[in-house]
Amino acid sequence: MLTGSCVLVRCSCYGRAANAQAQLKFTDEGVCRDYLCGLCPHDLYANTKFDLGKCPKAHNEHQKEAYEEASKTQDYGFEREWLETLERLLRERDKYIAYEIREVEERENRGMDPVVKDLVSDAWEDARAASACADDLTLLAAFCPMASQNS
Ligand SMILES: [Zn+2]
Repeated sequence: MLTGSCVLVRCSCYGRAANAQAQLKFTDEGVCRDYLCGLCPHDLYANTKFDLGKCPKAHNEHQKEAYEEASKTQDYGFEREWLETLERLLRERDKYIAYEIREVEERENRGMDPVVKDLVSDAWEDARAASACADDLTLLAAFCPMASQNS
């Protein structure tokens, strides 16, 4: 890895870092175990709303092959950790999506309620007025046969 003694230009440091990562064993802390298992969440969510940024650990094909070979005869427990990580991320994503849906629904309700309420209120007022008018005409017709004939 990079140390304080690294005084080379930046791209050389990156080259060294890549070389240093390639030198790691798949069991080393700096190696991405999710990648070894087949899928790193940092790659899974790249360029999405849930983008986690670049994975800080090494993704190296040689380490992956070495792990695949070694895991045939020994259980390193990487898959269990990997599944737990993926399940946690899925739960977090689902929670976020549910929150977003609730937000949109509440926003729509806040926007729609007064309009719908006004329309319903107006319709009821019109219906009541029409009903009152009909009642008045019925009464008028009942007590004044001339009024119904003239209208
Ligand atoms: Zn990774």
